[in-house]
Amino acid sequence: MRLQGKVALITGAASGIGQEIARAMAREGAVVSIADISADAAQRAAAEIEHDGGRAIAVDMDVTDEAQVTAGVNRTIASCGGLDILVSNAGIQIIAPIHELAYADWRRVVSIHLDAAFLVTRAALQHMYAHHKGGSIIYMGSVHSKEASPLKAPYVAAKHGILGLARTVAKEGAPFGVRSNVVCPGFVRTPLVERQIPEQAAALGISEADVIKNVMLKETVDGEFTTTADVAETTVFLAAFPSNALTGQSIVVSHGWHMS
Ligand code: NAD
Repeated sequence: MRLQGKVALITGAASGIGQEIARAMAREGAVVSIADISADAAQRAAAEIEHDGGRAIAVDMDVTDEAQVTAGVNRTIASCGGLDILVSNAGIQIIAPIHELAYADWRRVVSIHLDAAFLVTRAALQHMYAHHKGGSIIYMGSVHSKEASPLKAPYVAAKHGILGLARTVAKEGAPFGVRSNVVCPGFVRTPLVERQIPEQAAALGISEADVIKNVMLKETVDGEFTTTADVAETTVFLAAFPSNALTGQSIVVSHGWHMS
């Protein structure tokens, strides 16, 4: 039980990677707050964890809405008795070449990934600093924090930006015992990626099988997708790490797609 006695708030935890992180953290003893814009799915995810013997609450939160973020973080602290771990994970993808990308779509992607990371970080830090118990902040980056791909300009730009935010939090947070790291997955078969396969096939004029083999997994060492379990295990490891030796770092979990 590596997270016994800890409270973890995970954004976007009603689906995919975030949901698996919530399950894994609950298994390790944390009380988890499932913060998601999809309220029904968040309730279901929390109920499933409780059914399996863990402790979880669902919090209705649009991570791009300042008031909702503040309210959701405060509700988590009041209901769960504190906040030790923040996983900023909620995300979306919009596929388009830059010359055809609507400004509204650029702003939407950057806002969900980067503005939201700032909003949840600020709310968490205010609590962590005031309570002198330290904390661990983990951002869901991507191989696209380190590499670019066509058709994903706002996503690549925002995921690169998260590295800068995480490194700044590492420096500002150190005197308060707050660590900050980034997990950078390769392709994981979540709803976010399932939607992209036909979209990329249409945009690139190739088959869906070719998107998987020659676009998504081409640069991996073994042609394998990363799994939600792989990402959750890495996130738990970072959350449980006991000292500032590991802060300001980004760990790539991608079957060797990106090596650094
Ligand atoms: P997903 O679509 O399965 O889950 C995303 C979750 O975020 C959903 O529950 C959704 O309701 C929630 N969400 C969306 N907008 C929100 C908002 N405004 N406020 C609150 N919640 C919101 O996607 P996923 O693949 O699990 O992605 C999770 C994170 O992992 C994202 O940051 C994504 O960029 C990152 N990531 C995914 C992959 C991949 O291949 N799947 C690879 C690298 C990084």
